[in-house]
Amino acid sequence: MAETNVFVDAVARLERLGAEAGIAPEVIAALRDPRETLIASLPVRLDDGSRRYFPAFRCRYNNALGPTKGGIRFHPNVTLEEVQALALWMTIKCAVVGLPYGGAKGGVIVDPKVLSRLELERLSRAYMRAMANVIGPDLDIPAPDVYTNARIMGWMRDEYEAIHRIKAPGVITGKPIRLGGSLGREEATGRGAFLCIQELARVRDLDPAKTRIAIQGFGNAGYHVAHLLQEAGYRIVAVSDSQGAIYSEDGFDVDSLHQHKEATRKLQGVYCEGSVCQLVDHERISNDELLELDVEILIPAALEGVIGPWNVDRIQAPIIVEVANGPILGEVDAQLFERGKVIVPDVLANAGGVTVSYFEWVQNRAGYAWTLDEVRSRLAEVMKRAFGEVWELGAAEKAALRGAAYTVALRRIAEAIHAHGTREYFQGDTD
Ligand code: NAD
Repeated sequence: MAETNVFVDAVARLERLGAEAGIAPEVIAALRDPRETLIASLPVRLDDGSRRYFPAFRCRYNNALGPTKGGIRFHPNVTLEEVQALALWMTIKCAVVGLPYGGAKGGVIVDPKVLSRLELERLSRAYMRAMANVIGPDLDIPAPDVYTNARIMGWMRDEYEAIHRIKAPGVITGKPIRLGGSLGREEATGRGAFLCIQELARVRDLDPAKTRIAIQGFGNAGYHVAHLLQEAGYRIVAVSDSQGAIYSEDGFDVDSLHQHKEATRKLQGVYCEGSVCQLVDHERISNDELLELDVEILIPAALEGVIGPWNVDRIQAPIIVEVANGPILGEVDAQLFERGKVIVPDVLANAGGVTVSYFEWVQNRAGYAWTLDEVRSRLAEVMKRAFGEVWELGAAEKAALRGAAYTVALRRIAEAIHAHGTREYFQGDTD
């Protein structure tokens, strides 16, 4: 795994891609550091009566294009640097798909799996209490991320409303449907990635039946992309979660795996005696082996920093679709590009989630709910347009898709920054 400081790596990549795209240095300077990061210690009463303090972060990275937007992660390995890197990527991501948002991210250093439900609720409410001054429907709008979900978003909305004594459904997205959530939000990240793969299949002439896919991470994003791909005829030959990975040359029945995981909380349960065990032959492999499989498409959908100098030479898949944020370290970008790998970058591949979060916020503000078909067709419109822009620019410049995606995003952010006036404008050199 990565020893590299993920934020330093993210800024180095931004500087490199920004320079290659000819973005003005003042724009890159505006994006080199976050605007503000609130660090808090969350006091939470445990069920045994004791009190524990959990370190928590909220980073509002840049708001040139609008209020900031980004998920909240509950994970024992959360760090300040990780939250800042994720907030930078959110800034780029919102701009790639053309949303009127800046980027943000939040996190709590906690292993949520060892908390009781009541402790989890207290922690979620404590997070909102600590951050309520920097969060708001026109200021900063959180959403779910790793190990947070719709119920947690509902608790946080409720806490925000109790503090401010108002109803504010647009303060957070990814909520339960009855608490102002949007139809189609839960599947949105997976569906957005699926739409990118469909577009890629169209421009690269891929035959789904001959396309074997390995997916690292079988959570919200990983499951939904797997489900849609299988439905479209692709073969999902390997999947993994934090406990381990499984492989089957013939491909898995994704929904059976999902049901089994829901019931047992882990994929390893597939090894037990039970219905799914008999469905297909499978072998157990490690998470590292999954990344190095000889497949047509590799989809990292778990955590960042899983492909770096230690394993880049062994990555065989010619196409990598980054459903997780930051799975590939910037320091190996060039190596992968030189080896002809096609990488659909995170800032595009997983942008379906924030896009439907945006739809949820729009619906909350309008007080009018869309149908599932409306959400899906608008998402398809946004993702196809964004993929097309990035693909065409990449082809025109013979550049990697990541470079093209950053170029699209940085140009939009630059336009917003320049609209306030540049040095040339204030010196009277331009209109
Ligand atoms: P999740 O909590 O639903 O699932 C995470 C999955 O990763 C789980 O199956 C977990 O077991 C697995 N995992 C954890 N550590 C692992 C490891 N070392 N090896 C293999 N698997 C491991 O989270 P999610 O919402 O699906 O998010 C996954 C990734 O997608 C994250 O990088 C997240 O930032 C990104 N993402 C999610 C969304 C969203 O809307 N959910 C949007 C954009 C990006």
